[in-house]
Amino acid sequence: EGSFDEECDYLFKAVLIGDSAVGKSNLLSRFARDEFCLESKPTIGVEFAYRNIRIGDKLIKAQIWDTAGQERFRAITSSYYRGAMGALLVYDTTRRSTFESLRKWLRELREFGSREMVVVLVGNKSDLTHSREVSLEDGQSLAQLEDLSFMETSAKENVNVEDAFLQMINKIYDLTS
Ligand code: GDP
Ligand code: MG
Repeated sequence: EGSFDEECDYLFKAVLIGDSAVGKSNLLSRFARDEFCLESKPTIGVEFAYRNIRIGDKLIKAQIWDTAGQERFRAITSSYYRGAMGALLVYDTTRRSTFESLRKWLRELREFGSREMVVVLVGNKSDLTHSREVSLEDGQSLAQLEDLSFMETSAKENVNVEDAFLQMINKIYDLTS
C-alpha cells in the first residue's frame, strides 16, 4: 500500500488572512485537528496544516497556511500567497476595526494572489452575540459587492468551520477539474 501522497489526486494550497486575533489559528486547528484554544497564542510557529478530503472518487490534500503571527507586523510576503488557490479572509464580528481592515486585505490579495483565487469571507466569533459590532447583513453586503462566498463561524462552538473550508475547497476543485 502506498502513502497518501502517492494516492492523492490533488494538492490544494490555501491561505488564512485577516487581522491579528480574529481567530485564524483557531479556525485552522478546529478544521485540521478539531481543537480550540481559549488562550491567545499569536505566534504558534506552525506554518501550515493538512487535511485530506474526498470529493467523489478523488482524494484531495488541502494544505492550509497560517500566518504564524506575521500579520501583526504587516509582514505577510508574496511567498505566503505563492501558489495559493484559495483564501479564507477572516474578520472578528465583535471588532468593527477588523471588518474595516478587509479593504486592505482585499487589496493585498489582488496584488499578491492569483487572479482566479477562491476567496471565502468569514465573520468569526459568532458565539459572542452580546458583543457583536458587525451585523450579518454587513458581511453579506460586502461579500455580494466583492463577489465572495460568505459565512459566519464560531471556532469556539464549532459552527460553520467545516462548511467554510469545504466550500472553499469544493470551489477550487470545480475550477481545477
Ligand atoms: P489569530 O491571531 O487570527 O490566529 O487568532 P487566534 O486563533 O489566535 O484567536 C485569538 C483569540 O480569539 C483567542 O483568544 C481565541 O481563543 C479567540 N477565539 C478564536 N475564535 C473564537 C471564536 O469563534 N469565539 C470566541 N469566543 N473566541 C474565539
Ligand atoms: Mg494566529
